[in-house]
Amino acid sequence: MVKITEKLLTSRYSRPRTKMHSVRGVVMHYTANPNANPDSHYRFFEYNNRRYAGAHYFVKRGYIVRMIPEGETTYHANETGYSKVAAFNGYYSSDGYKGNANSCTIGIEMELEPDGSIHPETIRTCILLAADIMRRYNLPMSRLVRHYDITGKICPLQFVRDPRAYQEFRNGVSRLLSGASNPPAVAEEATDKVSQSKRPVNNLSIVDFMEAHGMDSSFSNRKKLAQQFGINGYSGTANQNIELLKKLNASDGDSKPSKPAKGKSVKQMADEVEAGKHGSGHANRRKSLGVDSDTYAKVRAEVNRRAGVSAPKPKSKSIAQMADEVVAGKHGSGHNNRRRSLGVSQSVYNQVRAEVNRRAGIKSAPKRKSITQMAKEVVAGKHGQGHANRQRSLGVDNATYQKVRARVNQMYK
Ligand SMILES: [Zn+2]
Repeated sequence: MVKITEKLLTSRYSRPRTKMHSVRGVVMHYTANPNANPDSHYRFFEYNNRRYAGAHYFVKRGYIVRMIPEGETTYHANETGYSKVAAFNGYYSSDGYKGNANSCTIGIEMELEPDGSIHPETIRTCILLAADIMRRYNLPMSRLVRHYDITGKICPLQFVRDPRAYQEFRNGVSRLLSGASNPPAVAEEATDKVSQSKRPVNNLSIVDFMEAHGMDSSFSNRKKLAQQFGINGYSGTANQNIELLKKLNASDGDSKPSKPAKGKSVKQMADEVEAGKHGSGHANRRKSLGVDSDTYAKVRAEVNRRAGVSAPKPKSKSIAQMADEVVAGKHGSGHNNRRRSLGVSQSVYNQVRAEVNRRAGIKSAPKRKSITQMAKEVVAGKHGQGHANRQRSLGVDNATYQKVRARVNQMYK
């Protein structure tokens, strides 16, 4: 039996402490991190307060560390928001979180050697571990997948680049399961194989379709699906199967969770989006959240609202405001000090400085001009179009500008 060292994480960015819907599969990963080991990854994830990431198991050679309890979720195979292996879609974790691979699969990370390779002993240990998990949850071989199979991420690199290495790994697991001391471990798959050969042609075709799409093709699952599609009293007849196949074809069972993320507030979803849980790009995020576009628009508005609130103040200040503050002495003296105090770039500070200088110039000049003089200039087009522009160009306060305006109007009467 494999020996497992348990070191459970507490960081909520790796361990949200939500229950999986059920264990429906095992997902293989690699850490992409030479020179690391399960202990260093434990420290990394324990002090992780930035990225939602984690895995249940980390394996190096003969050393296995469990960091997340098997029945809890972590963030390991959902960066696209849905699973290409349909058998992992639609299963919600206890917090109602989405409906895909993270809610129903256990992740195993293979650690690397300093040269970036995976040690044969690491692979042997993972074979033992995967077989052990699959036996305990009664999972067929079709439920042992690579991260790559779920989202297309190149992970584990060695198993994507070298399909033969991956096949050898699978063969190892398969041998353990079939030579099992505990025969029920492979019952589901064995049953399918036996019954498939006896199935009539139309029956076979729906099973083939489901298998090809990575779906659970067991009778009980077909019955459940039939019910969802409004086929009542499903008993596996030819007609029912043809009907079900049509519905499945039409619904493209490969993607998208069918239910909205229930029980989540816009605020919670905005939290998650900000935390990067739903990837990037609006289409991806909406799909990952499993909400309609109206709801997504609300989430987006909330994220934007926060961005406005939490952005460093200088960004939301206008040049005029910053000039006000500089003039009021709020940012000390000396250009470097002021720029640092404002927290702006040199080019922004130059604009502030120009504004301050412009104002300083204003004080002396405009007083010499009479309202009538200024009105004449306005009429002559010297101060451009639009009241705001004209006022700025004249360098006068609003009260003075209103007088100029009134005079201009008088002149046109
Ligand atoms: Zn991975």
